[in-house]
Amino acid sequence: MTGNRAVAYLKPGAVDVRATDYPTLELQDGPGVATENIGRKSRHGVILKVLATNICGSDQHMVRGRTTAPEGLVLGHEITGEVVERGPDVEFIEVGDVVSVPFNIACGRCRNCKERKTGICLNVNPARPGAAYGYVDMGGWVGGQAEYAMVPYADFNLLKFPDREEALEKLLDLTMLSDIFPTGFHGVVTSGAGVGSTVYVAGAGPVGLAAAASAQLLGAAVVIVGDLNTERLAQARSFGCETVDVSKGSIEEQIAEITGEPEVDAAVDAVGFEARAHGPQSQEAPATVLNSLMGVTRAGGALGIPGLYVTDDPGGVDEDAKSGTLKVRLGLGWAKSHSFATGQCPVMKYHRGLMQAIRHGRVHIAKAVNATVIGLDDAPRGYAEFDQGASRKYVLDPHGALQGVRPV
Ligand code: NAD
Ligand code: ZN
Ligand code: ZN
Repeated sequence: MTGNRAVAYLKPGAVDVRATDYPTLELQDGPGVATENIGRKSRHGVILKVLATNICGSDQHMVRGRTTAPEGLVLGHEITGEVVERGPDVEFIEVGDVVSVPFNIACGRCRNCKERKTGICLNVNPARPGAAYGYVDMGGWVGGQAEYAMVPYADFNLLKFPDREEALEKLLDLTMLSDIFPTGFHGVVTSGAGVGSTVYVAGAGPVGLAAAASAQLLGAAVVIVGDLNTERLAQARSFGCETVDVSKGSIEEQIAEITGEPEVDAAVDAVGFEARAHGPQSQEAPATVLNSLMGVTRAGGALGIPGLYVTDDPGGVDEDAKSGTLKVRLGLGWAKSHSFATGQCPVMKYHRGLMQAIRHGRVHIAKAVNATVIGLDDAPRGYAEFDQGASRKYVLDPHGALQGVRPV
């Protein structure tokens, strides 16, 4: 059965938009679907008409061929939509609700969900704790860069926007609640930053910019964003951040020029395993950010690490990197009593509060990340431009719901 259209991973460097099955409340066999999940029923699920779905740096790892994602995998874990059908076991979510979908799929019933660690739910992915839509090794739940998508455990997972009209007006900001805003916020919270902190955020991609906006929201005294992409650094400056250009060498010296001292209270890694070495014409060096953050973070400080590190990387720079083994200078972190927080962001911990911050004008997240609306059919162009380092967060608009919607 067709009746849906979706963005699928084709091969390294290529995605296409194709006809796919209209979702049902049962997980069908397909590319990337874990064997034990085939035929899994979701009486607790809903079907969404997708109103906004974003392209993420996490998708790019797959599209660059840096994971074991299979051909045909339907992409997309950043989903905002309207409920068009609900399963018989859904009690509180109604048809017509406009909702944000946390990218983590969580059952709401296991030990980790009960402890609010929804990024490592024990019941949704037979291979390992934690699942997501449209992602390799994440259980095979079908991606939401599509016209329609299925969300299981709907009562637990979905954040319903309180006012439908307002939600549609603020959709371009609210769409950031499914991943990057909570993820950036989590990075900052786990870095220990708060009122008066000096914060360094490595990476000026959408997650880094969301972390920077979050640090401001949390009252940081100064937020410094580092990258080698000058356009992205300019974007960070556009909303009041200081910047360092890591291609110009030592970040300590550049940070000292800004704050008067070569260290910060708190640091966030919004880069991950495809990190480039510092200095001119640098090559990929996956442990660069982790090691440099230990270098610049004060003794007793913490590193928030939303940047993704993988267990298998076919394109790794050496044999160790191919299995996710990096040359991390842990002795330095140990000597400085650093704490580290890694892993998927448990979106549900933060999305309601951040929604309220958006609704009441406390934060301008769509502007901060330069949200850019394109049609579903333009997804291949969005992926290519994002891969080239465009300073934009691409938001796909499968049904035209974002036409005329402006950042708040
Ligand atoms: P992105 O690829 O757009 O941004 C990464 C940026 O890092 C790029 O601008 C790149 O130029 C820059 N960079 C490379 N080396 C650097 C260095 N040494 N220092 C500073 N900057 C450097 O990706 P994004 O969408 O912003 O996502 C960032 C990371 O967060 C990715 O690894 C993504 O997979 C991850 N992520 C994690 C979660 C989570 O739940 N933990 C959620 C979403 C995204
Ligand atoms: Zn994402
Ligand atoms: Zn669970």
